[in-house]
Amino acid sequence: MILSRVSIECKELAPTIMLKEETIHSNIARVRQRISEHCKHIGRDPDEITVVAVGKGMPAALVQEAISNGITDIAENYIREAGEKLPVLSGSFRKHMIGHLQTNKARKAVQWFDIVQSIDTVDLASLVSREALSAGKRMDVLIQVNISREPQKRGFLPEFAAQAALEIQKLPGVSLKGLMTIPRFHEDPEAVRPYFKDLRRLFMKLKTQETLRNSMEVLSMGMSDDFLIAIEEGSTMVRIGRAIYGNRPQSCQT
Ligand SMILES: *Cc1c(COP(=O)(O)O)cnc(C)c1O
Repeated sequence: MILSRVSIECKELAPTIMLKEETIHSNIARVRQRISEHCKHIGRDPDEITVVAVGKGMPAALVQEAISNGITDIAENYIREAGEKLPVLSGSFRKHMIGHLQTNKARKAVQWFDIVQSIDTVDLASLVSREALSAGKRMDVLIQVNISREPQKRGFLPEFAAQAALEIQKLPGVSLKGLMTIPRFHEDPEAVRPYFKDLRRLFMKLKTQETLRNSMEVLSMGMSDDFLIAIEEGSTMVRIGRAIYGNRPQSCQT
C-alpha cells in the first residue's frame, strides 16, 4: 500500500549540544549570503525570497536558536512533533505545516499553524476551511503539486491544479496563496531544474487567469541541496532544513 511510505512522525529528535547553536548562527548567515549573492548575479531582489527553516527532527531549543538568529518562518512536518515544540517557542514567527496532513489532525493544524503548504486534496482544503471558520480564523494555504508525477507522492498532478485552485479559492475559511512542490530526488541538483521550470510555468499559467491572479503570490520550491536553482527558476519561498540545522536523525529523513 502506497500510504505506508508516508512517515507520520520522527522517532527521535537530534541531540541539542552547545556547538550546534553556534553552527545554526553561521549556517543561517551562510544561507542568507548565498541567496543574496545569487540574487545579485541573476538580477532578483533577495527580499522577494522567504527562507522557511524546516525543523523536523530538531529539538525546540534549536528551532528557538534559529528564531533568535532572525528566522521569521519555521516549518514542521508532523503534528505530534509540532504539538511538543511549538508551544515552547517564543518570539514572532510564522508557522508552516509542510508534511502530509491527515484529516483527523486538521483541527490541530488550524490551531497551531498559520499556513498549510501541503494541501493535497480539495476535501482536505474543505476540512481546513471548516475548522478555520469554527476557530474564527482564516487559514493561508498552498496547493501541493506532484510536479514529477511520482506515483507514491502526494499532491495534485499538474493538470488538476487549476481546477483545484478554483475550488479551493471559493472556500470561505482559507486563503489560497500559491503552489508548493517537493520534486523527485536526484543526486545532482541540476537534474531537478526541469521540475522547477514546470512548476513555475504552471504558476504563471494560473496567475494569468483573472480569477486566480490574487491567489498566486507564493511559489514554494527549493530545499537545502537545490534552493539556488529553485530561486533561479522563480521560487519565492525556500524550505531549508539541513543547511540550517545540520543532518537529521535517521528516522526523519523525509
Ligand atoms: C524536510 C523537508 C524540507 C527540508 O529539506 P532539507 O533537504 O533538509 O532542506 C523541505 N520541504 C519539505 C516538505 C520537507 O519535508
